[in-house]
Amino acid sequence: MTKRRRSRPVQVGDVQIGGDAPVTLQSMTKTHTTDVKATVEQIKELEDIGCEIIRAAVPTREAAGCLGEIKKQIQIPLVADIHFSHRMALDAIEQGVDKIRINPGNMKDRGKVEEVVRAAKDKGVAIRIGVNSGSIRDRGQEDVPMADLMVDAILRYCEHFESLGFRDIVLSLKASDVPTTMDAYRRVAKECDYPLHLGITAAGPAATSIMKSAIGIGGLLSEGIGDTLRVSITGHPTEEIKAGKSILEALRLREVEGWELISCPMCGRCEIDLESIVEEVRSKLPPEKRGLQIAIMGCAVNGPGEAQECDLGIAGGHGFGLLFKRGEMVRKIPESEMVSQLLKELDEMSAPTNGGSGK
Ligand code: SF4
Repeated sequence: MTKRRRSRPVQVGDVQIGGDAPVTLQSMTKTHTTDVKATVEQIKELEDIGCEIIRAAVPTREAAGCLGEIKKQIQIPLVADIHFSHRMALDAIEQGVDKIRINPGNMKDRGKVEEVVRAAKDKGVAIRIGVNSGSIRDRGQEDVPMADLMVDAILRYCEHFESLGFRDIVLSLKASDVPTTMDAYRRVAKECDYPLHLGITAAGPAATSIMKSAIGIGGLLSEGIGDTLRVSITGHPTEEIKAGKSILEALRLREVEGWELISCPMCGRCEIDLESIVEEVRSKLPPEKRGLQIAIMGCAVNGPGEAQECDLGIAGGHGFGLLFKRGEMVRKIPESEMVSQLLKELDEMSAPTNGGSGK
């Protein structure tokens, strides 16, 4: 992992984005914001699984008028997502949101953008300048790479905001195309020190989005770029938080929640029903065994090595397996008892005190 890019800290309610703060997880509500009850219920569900910042769409002034009531009923910072209307942005700030997300390119009148920036400054509200590839290309720019257009536009907006003495800025440059998104973030990361909100926009349903986001968001994070993220999925927002968490855990940017199951892909050497064993163990693992790594491997080629490096592991053989516990081979067990004996051992183990595993 490359050392993390040092960004300036921006306060969003009681959550810091950038600086030395950990990378935070965000999502967006999928309810009508005017339906306060449903929106609050969805946010509470998201809070329960670890969402740290929530954004709500503000398509009308009526929606903007509901933000204060929503904010009163939730624990995490609330971000208003505004397009086109500076009036709705002013309403959202007045309602006490913690951040607004705007694309200044959608508010054609420079004077109106300035009104919004001044209001945000007065109230200590942060602004995310969010540029999406869909809104950026003008006629005559067909030959200019999209990433360059996005970066040039966002830097112009930053300069404008800075000329008004405003620096509580978070940036996002999302495209649905992964290489374009990565190029844009890499370039902007070199050009300024504002914290970066990572995401691949319109990334599709879960399977497609998780793949694109793991590569795009995960790739940038592995290069030290990024301060907060949202995985966008056509589906329930809890899936976005679960996917974001998995990316952070895979990169070791966040402690693994619950256990981590390591299993081999199987091949012609495997002589146990590994797939069924792994699935049964997965479905029965107690969630409270925080930070434990469990390996279930098909044969003696890589099996003992992986099993030894984990807190608990099985290396399969011909109808049997070797059980390893914190690096030591404990005993040989028949295939029919692999699941029950592994779960029994797990039951007797406490989570590692250092928050990580033996691996
Ligand atoms: S651990 Fe053994 S069974 Fe599993 S993939 Fe490797 S060689 Fe094949």
